[in-house]
Parts: sequence; C-alpha cells; structure tokens
Amino acid sequence: MEAKPLNVVAIFSHPDDLSFFCSGTLAKWAEEGHQIYALCCTSGNVGTLRTDLTKEQVAEMREKELRAANKILGVKETIMLGYPDGGFIKASELREKLIYYVRKLEADRVVTFDPWVAYEVHPDHLVVGRMAAEAAAFAAFPLLYPKQIREGLGHYACSEVWFMGLLDHAPNCFVDITSTLEKKVKAALKFEATLTLLARLFTPDIDPASVTPEQLEILSKHADTLLRFMASTIGEKVKLKAAEAFYVQKTLPGHFDNFQQIMMEMLGNPPEPPKIC
Ligand SMILES: [Zn+2]
Repeated sequence: MEAKPLNVVAIFSHPDDLSFFCSGTLAKWAEEGHQIYALCCTSGNVGTLRTDLTKEQVAEMREKELRAANKILGVKETIMLGYPDGGFIKASELREKLIYYVRKLEADRVVTFDPWVAYEVHPDHLVVGRMAAEAAAFAAFPLLYPKQIREGLGHYACSEVWFMGLLDHAPNCFVDITSTLEKKVKAALKFEATLTLLARLFTPDIDPASVTPEQLEILSKHADTLLRFMASTIGEKVKLKAAEAFYVQKTLPGHFDNFQQIMMEMLGNPPEPPKIC
C-alpha cells in the first residue's frame, strides 16, 4: 500500500454502471486500504423493460442492488444524487455538484466514463463522464463556486482521472483483478434489473419484460460467464489472468497534463506502451 490512503471517487450515471467496468479495481483498492466513494448521479428509474413497475419502484430496487453490491466491494460510502434517468441532467448544475464532492471528499482520483469514446449513445454516460472530468480538473480554482469555499470546503486539486471502459478507448493502464474477480462477479450479479436488460444478449428464449425466478438464474449464469470472459480477454493483452482497462489522465488546473507526453515524443521518444498499474 502507498503511504497515504487515497480518496477514490467513482462518479457514474446509473446504479449498475461500475459493475462491468471497474468494480474489480475498486474492490482491490479498498482491500489495499484506500477510501472508495461511489457517487451515482441518477436513480436509474427507467432502467427496466418490465411494464409492471413504476419509476419509483425501479429506483428503489436499483438503489438497493447498488448498496448490496458496494458492500461486497468494500465501498466506504454510496452517494445518490437522484437525477432522473434518461437524459435529463443539466450539465452546468451537475458540474457544480461534482466539484462540491471532489472538494468535500478531497478526491485524489476520479473514476468515470470516457465521454470521448466512439458510439457512446447514452446521454447520462456522456454528460456524467464529461462533468466528472471537468470537476477533477476545475476543483482547484478557488474563485470557481466560491460559496463552497466560504462554507468551509478547500479548493482541492484532484490529480488523476481514470476513464473506465473495455478495449475500445485506447487504455494506457491495466489493473490486475485476479484477486478480486470473485467479488466483482458476486457484486455484479446483485443487479437483477440489469440481468433482465441483458436477456436478449444472452438468449432469445427469455422475455425481458417478464422474467421468472428460474429464468433469472439462467441469466445470472450467462452474466457470470461474460464477466469472467471479459476479465480474461482484457487480461490477455498484458499477460494477466484477469484485468480491467483504463485510460488514465493526470490533471493540472483547467486541463489534462498532456504536455509531458507530447514533449517526450517531440524529443524523439516513442509513445509509452500501456502499463500495469
Ligand atoms: Zn449506465
């Protein structure tokens, strides 16, 4: 473990967002003694194909699933911002809230969606990834949202943003999750609403609008296989049994620290290959 435990703030859009992309890494960091905060921006209240539930019931069900999963992962605190699901987040308002949490939690590392990845269609993923990245880079400015400073928060420089994803976002950092893969799978299978959403991906025989408990068992087995396959496929790229992939950017106030890399390349050094972090 590093000398000082890090404050890691995972900022995501819907209760199940972390489970496939970074939950093995979060569990590993928690085991190493770092403080993990999970900040979920929407309630996920339209995230189902079932027609027998209200938005309130869906939100309640998904928050319960998230809290159960986070318990397995060792998350210190789960924070729900409660925006409605499905593209209703006002970017500037969200940015102010996220800067508040970066300052309050003294975030050393933000983990979020990559809003620049190709073919990302979900408006909540796009706006949350973008505003989380901005919050990490702009929380250091004391004259930005000075009311927060006057009320006692420090202006806080978050030093890294870790963009989660699969292999389509040019990852420069791979985390070995061999030791926490079981926790990842166990936590991901808590998300029943997600399993039903993925039904069509796994089998044409199950109607996602009305899944029986027996069918849910079948979907769980498919998801279990998929999660392990994803981890080993990503791991293979760097000769690990199981891994998760990130594009990591160091921050400077107001922007990412791209200068060092470009200067090295200008001096004739080859671009750095992906590393195991
Ligand atoms: Zn999502």
